Amino acid sequence: MQRHILNLLVFWFCVAGYKDPAMAQNPREEYLFNDCHFHLTNYIQEGITADQFLEVMGTKCGRSVLFGIPLQQDWSYQNSGNYAPTYYLQSDAPLYYYSFTDAYIAMQFKSLSKEQKARIDPMITGFNPSDMYGVKHIERVLRTFPGIFTGIGEFSIHKEFVSSKVTGETASLTNPALDSILDFAGRVGLIVLIHSDIDMPFAKPAAEAVYLSQMKDLLKRHPRTTIIWAHMGLGRVVHPVGYSSIDPGERPSNQVSIIEEILSDPALSHVYFDISWDEVAKYIVTNSKTIQNSAAVFEKFPDRFLFGTDVVAPPDQKFYMSVYDMYAPLWKVLSPTTSEKIRKQNYIRLFDAAREKVRTWERVNISK
Ligand SMILES: [Zn+2]
Repeated sequence: MQRHILNLLVFWFCVAGYKDPAMAQNPREEYLFNDCHFHLTNYIQEGITADQFLEVMGTKCGRSVLFGIPLQQDWSYQNSGNYAPTYYLQSDAPLYYYSFTDAYIAMQFKSLSKEQKARIDPMITGFNPSDMYGVKHIERVLRTFPGIFTGIGEFSIHKEFVSSKVTGETASLTNPALDSILDFAGRVGLIVLIHSDIDMPFAKPAAEAVYLSQMKDLLKRHPRTTIIWAHMGLGRVVHPVGYSSIDPGERPSNQVSIIEEILSDPALSHVYFDISWDEVAKYIVTNSKTIQNSAAVFEKFPDRFLFGTDVVAPPDQKFYMSVYDMYAPLWKVLSPTTSEKIRKQNYIRLFDAAREKVRTWERVNISK
């Protein structure tokens, strides 16, 4: 009789599915997306804690990157008096590189539980990409905080309204300091998230995208480095190349053919794009034609795009979900497979590979 009851219990566990409490706490199956682009802190290094972010992620977001913003907005009394700017558009005072952000992110990560850490990929950002010593900062952070970081970025080269405000040498795509950073990332296995506008603000539709060829040359110089080009190179006023605001989507913009050309080039098979930021989503979900044009590229290259929010220090989940919700018309038209890849699987594939490589590099290169 007892044996019979025991068999029944075992059978029940096998059939009904034993729910691992960690998995219950970490409902990866039910979640909607992984987030490859998230800022815990803002331009004055303030924000929410990592623990609060896990709350905000809840059961909507399975895994996410974690980084701050490597630039500090200077509060210059001469410039704005008692008005304390919190964003780069709120003062003419400069921005400067803020390296402590990496120690702050590392300590936030260390404060998490084992289950929580499994959902988070911290990224190093506190380096100056135009400083030949910039790469040394990245190595120093890895040696100081082993077992934590998965990649570098988001860091910016050409960024509307920002690059011209940064003190010191203006970052460029042709600077050998940037090459040494991408080379090191490739050797270690650090995944790279780079922000660099593809064009100048308010570009004329017919004009050649000003930074495109420099960016392609840079990408081609680093075939061993996994590189995510944030926002597909777009911005608030850096619109898709050849974009016409008169009849958006009437015909696929040059941007679409530029992206297709990059993704079709075997020499650029290490390049991916994130579709993060509401300022990017606005171009994609403008109307049914822009949605169709974008969906066509996503269906053609489903393994090469990653969803991200680019949300900064969200006060609550509603705020955090705003970019994902903006893309609802896109999620509706994409095939389930492509949608699943862009929302979840591409993240897991790329970030799991990076985690493994970086841990291996640390084991080999960091003596106990
Ligand atoms: Zn960002």
